[in-house]
Amino acid sequence: MSSQTDRFEAGRRRLLTAGAALGGLALAGCAGTPKGPSIGRVVVVGGGFGGATAARYLRLWGGNVDVTLVERNASFVSCPISNLVVGGYKQMADITLGYDGLKSLGVKVVQGEVTAIDAAARKVRLAGGAELAYDRLIVSPGIDFMNDQVGALAAALDSGRVVHGWKAGPQTVALRKQLTDMADGGVYAISIPKVPYRCPPGPYERACMVASYFKEAKPRSKVLVLDANPEIQSKKALFERAFAQHYSGILEYRPNAELKEVSGNLAKLEFEDVNADVLNVVPPQRAADLARSAGLVNINNRWVGVNWLTMESTAVPGIHVLGDATFPAPLMPKSGHMANQHAKVAAAAVIQLLKGEAVNATPVMVNTCYSFVTAKDVIHVASVHQYDAAEKIFKTVPGSGGVSAAANQVEGKYALSWADNIWHDMLG
Ligand SMILES: Cc1cc2nc3c(=O)[nH]c(=O)nc-3n(C[C@H](O)[C@H](O)[C@H](O)COP(=O)(O)OP(=O)(O)OC[C@H]3O[C@@H](n4cnc5c(N)ncnc54)[C@H](O)[C@@H]3O)c2cc1C
Repeated sequence: MSSQTDRFEAGRRRLLTAGAALGGLALAGCAGTPKGPSIGRVVVVGGGFGGATAARYLRLWGGNVDVTLVERNASFVSCPISNLVVGGYKQMADITLGYDGLKSLGVKVVQGEVTAIDAAARKVRLAGGAELAYDRLIVSPGIDFMNDQVGALAAALDSGRVVHGWKAGPQTVALRKQLTDMADGGVYAISIPKVPYRCPPGPYERACMVASYFKEAKPRSKVLVLDANPEIQSKKALFERAFAQHYSGILEYRPNAELKEVSGNLAKLEFEDVNADVLNVVPPQRAADLARSAGLVNINNRWVGVNWLTMESTAVPGIHVLGDATFPAPLMPKSGHMANQHAKVAAAAVIQLLKGEAVNATPVMVNTCYSFVTAKDVIHVASVHQYDAAEKIFKTVPGSGGVSAAANQVEGKYALSWADNIWHDMLG
């Protein structure tokens, strides 16, 4: 018996040693132990969908590229799937991931706030005064809000009385708490700004998740969807069907209902005031503050124009901009999937530029956005975008993409797998 145990223990040790050796090899390979001099220093600002993906793929594809990622938050919290947290079907832990996967790949991850970019000196400055020099800079800072477009909104958000929940994190928790604290028979109103905003189907998905929660837990309560747009902006027929099939008598959709002012619990529209126990305002949006202060915003005073072959800013050379901050190509949504695709085009182009090689002249990007309409039933919209050399922009490929025929539970499984896959694609 004892010799059997010994043999088992010896075998276990051999396996562990082999595992450690393999792990060591894998680490040496993945972390990109220098095979020669560094081909350049790339600083990436923003560890969200665009920035994290860019940092990872620079290391995977670039070999010996020196990559530093600067992100203000300690961990990544995903907006995709955050509407399920709002509905009570997932927890914050399910949408929160760390940056260890990037670190083990050799990315230097710095938690900090970039306060300035000196494009002439090729340096970024961090709060606290530290500076990071770069050969190429990639910026994926997301969006910030134009709160001044709605009367008294800034103060209402600051006080915590009104929440946006449009950047996942403490706002998601606050919105969920307001909903659970609300008495049965209360009203939840979500105000949707005019397009363009981050995640076109996101507000309608959120309305469904809140209505689903009310149906189960607070059946006398109501959901009001106050849309500044003239109609539902994504998967229209499918959302209309979901509203009618699952939430008749609970959810009311009002088009052309632009929010003008917030006053206490009142949402003031052009011709009426709406009283809401929980007022969830998705504010109008623009490229994030850093894009503005760095002089990158050059379209409609809101968005960043890019050269679509490299994602390099058309305003400031040497800076590549990804994701929601960019002025989109036709029919390109502001989505996490799209930011991930921008990042791959940029990572490949930056490596080629650092090596003095020609960049890929025929890039293709894809997008799929899943939306939960019940806790289990999901709908999707997909598109394929190809670079058009004549017009120097991405265009959708005729006949590609499409939408679900109907909401279904199989796509519910796909949606959760999509999230898991993209989180690992960006963070390792
Ligand atoms: C409710 C909701 C649901 C959504 N669902 C989906 C979905 O199902 N599928 C999908 O594809 N998309 C979805 N989206 C959209 C998706 O979240 C965004 O399109 C995506 O996050 C954009 O990526 P990004 O890299 O541009 O910005 P972000 O992911 O927001 O990343 C920006 C990062 O930059 C950091 N940052 C900004 N400025 C600085 C600075 N000065 N210094 C340091 N760090 C800085 C921020 O902290 C942030 O981490 C959803 C969005 C919402 C709100």
